[in-house]
Amino acid sequence: MALSVSDLPQDAQVPSGTARRLTDIPDNAVEIQNLVKVYREDKGRTKRALDGVSLTVRRGELFGLLGPNGAGKSTLINIMAGLVNKTSGSVRIWDIDLDRDPRGIRAAIGVVPQELNLDAFFTPRELLDVQAGLYGVPRAERRTDEILRAVGLADKADAYARTLSGGMRRRLLVAKALVHAPPVLVLDEPTAGVDVELRQHLWNYVRELNARGTTVLLTTHYLPEAEELCDRIAIINHGKLVALDTKQALLARLDSKALHVTIDRDLGAVPPALAAYAAQQDGPRRLTFRYEPSRTQVGGILAALQSAGLGIDDVSTEESDLEDIFLELTRRPAGELEEQGHG
Ligand code: ADP
Ligand code: MG
Repeated sequence: MALSVSDLPQDAQVPSGTARRLTDIPDNAVEIQNLVKVYREDKGRTKRALDGVSLTVRRGELFGLLGPNGAGKSTLINIMAGLVNKTSGSVRIWDIDLDRDPRGIRAAIGVVPQELNLDAFFTPRELLDVQAGLYGVPRAERRTDEILRAVGLADKADAYARTLSGGMRRRLLVAKALVHAPPVLVLDEPTAGVDVELRQHLWNYVRELNARGTTVLLTTHYLPEAEELCDRIAIINHGKLVALDTKQALLARLDSKALHVTIDRDLGAVPPALAAYAAQQDGPRRLTFRYEPSRTQVGGILAALQSAGLGIDDVSTEESDLEDIFLELTRRPAGELEEQGHG
């Protein structure tokens, strides 16, 4: 969707001069409070893309912002990147307030946008050099080759961007975001439209950056990505935060499956040998086991049944996973969520 002029920040330039030295080490890498974005659309209509979002990303985290298409993820990222003006609320990155120091904040953050917007007539090396210049990184401190190697583009350093594949362009955007060595790296749907092999490569690299101290915030509508990479996950829908928890806690809410077993004879009670598996009797021949797939394997339960001397006639399972909670939390229409609302 096209940006209107009123959505653009007043100061859309990158900082000039040497990038601000980010010597202070805050506890929180990102603090967002009550963030609201109302886009003006045609004919005086408006779209409330963010409706009072508050969240904190701690220093060193690999944080996932999850939500379906249209939830407001890119809007939030673009506000952080200084590409879209917020309507209200506050944004602090690395203890720098967006309103107070909109130029300074850019030294703290590197953003990999969702769109593959690259100048086709630059080579990767030129592009990174221009970017380093814009951010005031002195020549002696530039790590162009190192970054290109890290994203697997060393052999394409001097090829025109227009000759790069989609996956290579995505990696080049990651490289571009890293030029000024920001403490906070933000990736907006980094693996959208990217093949499996490259996805794995990118994930590994993001993990590595995180392990070396970079705080990472990534958005995705792709659950396994958040599940595999992130420490904490926020879920937004219709511009509102609907969940924010550690991956473990979110999964614990979901990490529950039921195994129904029909056995070959009537039972008076659950055999003591099965006590460890929290079995419940649903009928003369039917037992239900609720278990956490992350801890318990079905094979173990079936083996326990067999060693209790019971034959198995039939089995079925019922699952709930991150997909379920995600759907449950994000399926609700905007109107219904309004009730919890901030006006
Ligand atoms: P996501 O990245 O989660 O898919 P976006 O932040 O791109 O969501 O969009 C959130 C909502 O705001 C969507 O309904 C989208 O159509 C709308 N929107 C995004 N950009 C604009 C814009 N420039 N003008 C008007 N509406 C917009
Ligand atoms: Mg988006």
